[in-house]
Amino acid sequence: MKREGLIMIISAPSGAGKTTLCHELRKRFPAMRESVSYTTRPPRSGEVDGEDYCFVSPEQFQAMVEEDAFAEWAEVHGNLYGTALKTLEDARKNGVDLLLDIDCQGALTLKERFEGGVYVFILPPSMEELRRRLEHRSSDSREVIERRIKRASDEIKEARWYDYIIINDRFQDAFEELSSIVLAQNHRTFRMMGQVAKLFDI
Ligand code: 5GP
Repeated sequence: MKREGLIMIISAPSGAGKTTLCHELRKRFPAMRESVSYTTRPPRSGEVDGEDYCFVSPEQFQAMVEEDAFAEWAEVHGNLYGTALKTLEDARKNGVDLLLDIDCQGALTLKERFEGGVYVFILPPSMEELRRRLEHRSSDSREVIERRIKRASDEIKEARWYDYIIINDRFQDAFEELSSIVLAQNHRTFRMMGQVAKLFDI
């Protein structure tokens, strides 16, 4: 009996700390892979095609939309991003645990189209703290920060339909909470029965 892979979807407003949490989660659960999305956004310095994203032209992206190759796709900050259906199907078939860092619109599409994912929303402790964190990231201009804050207040309304919510006030607490979700999912009976069958010959 093959173990069914865990597909965990994580969304958060920009500045909630999602990237660091996902990074630490992958260190704690090395078997978990990050899903590589397709995007029309140009690569940032240091990003590797096929590792960070599959970087494609708007025409290539559109062709994939028409072929129905995406399990979900969305426009985020003016660029297109999508998760290939094949990435999810392969992971599930091979029992691979997959982490998807995708926005709320994409996550909602996925929830409607793809069964069995676990949806986690990460929130900042307050809007004031979100603003403070975004202002401390020297990379963003004032205009970009204001746009991100506006978008965050819209995104936070989407938290209600996720399976789990984490408030990232103290990083270590948030990390433990996120890890405990993965652990609990790994111990779902349907994921454990293959191992149990082997151990006890049942
Ligand atoms: P960045 O360009 O900074 O890597 O990502 C910007 C946003 O795009 C992030 O909030 C991330 O969650 C979202 N994103 C990345 N990949 C996908 C994807 O495949 N689908 C959707 N819907 N959003 C994505």
